[in-house]
Amino acid sequence: MELSKKEIIEILKSNDKSIFKTADEVRREYVGDGIHLRGLIEFSNICKRNCLYCGLQSANRSVKRYRLSKNEILTLAKKGAKDGYKTIVLQSGEDDFYTTDLLCDIVSEIKSLGVAITLSIGEKNFEEYKAYKEAGADRFLLRIETTDENLYKKMHPYADFANRRRCLYDLKRLGYETGTGCLVGLPEQSVESLADDILFFKELNADMVGIGPFIPHPQTPLKTQPVGNFELAVKVMALTRVILPDINIPATTAMESLREDGRMFALQSGANVIMPNLTDEFHKKMYEIYPNKVSITGLELENKISQTGRFIVSDSCGFRKNN
Ligand code: SAM
Repeated sequence: MELSKKEIIEILKSNDKSIFKTADEVRREYVGDGIHLRGLIEFSNICKRNCLYCGLQSANRSVKRYRLSKNEILTLAKKGAKDGYKTIVLQSGEDDFYTTDLLCDIVSEIKSLGVAITLSIGEKNFEEYKAYKEAGADRFLLRIETTDENLYKKMHPYADFANRRRCLYDLKRLGYETGTGCLVGLPEQSVESLADDILFFKELNADMVGIGPFIPHPQTPLKTQPVGNFELAVKVMALTRVILPDINIPATTAMESLREDGRMFALQSGANVIMPNLTDEFHKKMYEIYPNKVSITGLELENKISQTGRFIVSDSCGFRKNN
């Protein structure tokens, strides 16, 4: 469906909630009732960046830092593959300990388990992205966070908005299924800029879009800022579904952290993906991008999904083209 910026803004500002139902219908028509699970491994919380909103920012001295060895990562990935996950997502802060060679080695070993691989490791150059792709990575997640350049500069000291955009276009050019997304509720963020974010997803022809409500972390400069609005975040997600009908859209953990059953609400408003956390309990607690990060897996998750009349896809990696 084509929507102008003006129409998107009107929907975001109105009290009318019919966009949730529309997105649910579009989701059913284009990608069906199946839910794809992506098993998430948070392999390092060490980060050289200082994103103002993020609990892992390098300026936060209170975080206990960790990085998993290649063997620890492979053990988690093997368990995930054995438990039936068809996609393994490797996520971390921007940690230069993992050289291109080491990452390629990890990627190719996980690839031999017969799963799809998604990387979410931040900004790299074209050659690095190319090497991971050749080693077997299929997808890459890199949220643009916000398309408002002034706000981007305020939220990301010393980072370069143009480089973040460049990364996303490089990933597309290299043939990755490319995921992006934004935060909803950043200080001084306007509804107009959220409309621009949605139009950017369309311009990029993103294959996956993850929307997260901003949740203030107590050890960051944004600790006293108000939490992002849950319904507004779901509206941004629903509009994204309507505008890019056949893509993969996760019901994000941040949504579940803000509202009980927030993820189920998201699944009924356009989402078709869930990313259960496969990281071991000890390290999971240390990967605190925001407080009270929830995690549901296994039977509890399956029960909740079946209550919504949906089912978990177990026989496909869930690429956009297969939807
Ligand atoms: N370093 C990689 C990157 O930049 O893409 C991946 C890890 S980063 C921690 C993953 C995502 O966490 C970010 O894209 C951001 O949107 C989200 N995030 C960080 N802090 C958050 C907060 N306080 N509330 C909600 N989401 C947050």
